[in-house]
Amino acid sequence: MIASAADKAVVFVLVMQVLRVRNMESRTESSLGPLFDSGPAGVPLTPIGTGLQEPTLKWGAASAAERGPVIATMRKGGHRNAIGTHAGGYSVYRALAIAAGALPRDHLADLTDTAPADRIGPHPQWADPSKIVSLDPWGHLVGHEFRDFLTRGYDIRPTIAVTRAHIDVPEIRAAIEAGRMRADGDIVSTLGNVRVMKAAIDPVWYLPGIAARFGVSEGKLRRDLHEQTAGMYPQLVEREDLKVFLPPIGGTTIYFFGDPDKLGDGKTPLACRVHDECNGSDVFGSDICTCRPYLAHGIEICIEMAQAGGIGVVIYNRKEGRALGEVTKFLVYNARKRQLAGDRPETYFKRTECVAGVPDMRFQELMPDVLHWLGITRIHRFASMSDMKYDALVRQGIQIDERVAIPDGMIPADARVEIEAKLAAGYFGGNIRSAPVGRALDE
Ligand SMILES: [Zn+2]
Repeated sequence: MIASAADKAVVFVLVMQVLRVRNMESRTESSLGPLFDSGPAGVPLTPIGTGLQEPTLKWGAASAAERGPVIATMRKGGHRNAIGTHAGGYSVYRALAIAAGALPRDHLADLTDTAPADRIGPHPQWADPSKIVSLDPWGHLVGHEFRDFLTRGYDIRPTIAVTRAHIDVPEIRAAIEAGRMRADGDIVSTLGNVRVMKAAIDPVWYLPGIAARFGVSEGKLRRDLHEQTAGMYPQLVEREDLKVFLPPIGGTTIYFFGDPDKLGDGKTPLACRVHDECNGSDVFGSDICTCRPYLAHGIEICIEMAQAGGIGVVIYNRKEGRALGEVTKFLVYNARKRQLAGDRPETYFKRTECVAGVPDMRFQELMPDVLHWLGITRIHRFASMSDMKYDALVRQGIQIDERVAIPDGMIPADARVEIEAKLAAGYFGGNIRSAPVGRALDE
């Protein structure tokens, strides 16, 4: 029985989805043709809110059907089986939009034509509850794997989206002009644009697995998450039966170069750069650090590998300023420049610690999950000097053959303090020339 006008509207949207999916099937597929239907089709629909149970979640189960869908929507009768809600930190904007009257609180996503543009998985790592603990490996396949739930009226949202694009990077154009890279008309167009697949991933945390990665009890993790967000999610302490939490933090974007079908085949050579966001350098070219130059170098290495028949992956994590945020980061810049004797490598981490209490809050322990999701077991060329990233990947059983340091000539003069501090702290330096520690290097 349909109980309210809102429920009638939901049923109307679902019926429209069916009609649109049916319509889509008769169309010629474009280059973005979906691999799967993204909505329910051809099955009688059940109105929401009548007799539906919370689906059980069995994290790390062998199949999507056995694992069950993650439901963290806020709609009435949404049958939530997870704590928190969708879209990471943007969930707060959604709340604001509802408060401002711009968004109906019962809005149901129309997922027509939103299915992945390329196939990713399933890989054996998806069925190991210890390998993936911070994302939902089935998050991009919701429309396909949980079709039955969707047709029964459950509101299930994708936490991963996969699409295709071309990117235009000035450093890659420069590499072509310098003769280091060729425009092959396939991966790199004659205009210098680069063909990529990209995926956006929202965080989905399996709390027992997160606790295990950090070597703490699940109870302590839940209490600290609850208390340190000022009680934002009471279910963390009230519903210990709910094991999955969608935290209000930034996620990850993947840029992929080459043929995605080769992912996880265990033999295709792979280049990889794991990059943590640095808006000042990545976007605005700020010269106090090596972030953008190293990112550009990582992209170049990935393209090179793809052009040689391998594959390349750039993993971009939203962890601004070592996950301390830009306000802390800019405070530290001031503290570094104003201290007695000026900015120097031996006090680089100390200045951060003075302001933030820790030198770094990125915790690379969760980072390897994305590589497990992609089915990666071996990285042939790893464009990173970070010992923390290297150690985290190796601890998770991912083999790394070669570490590629940033070429010395790509280091901005003002970023010498950072590089020297990192080398002194144990970063892999390759052929980077090292100056005696204690000398200010912002020449
Ligand atoms: Zn930076």
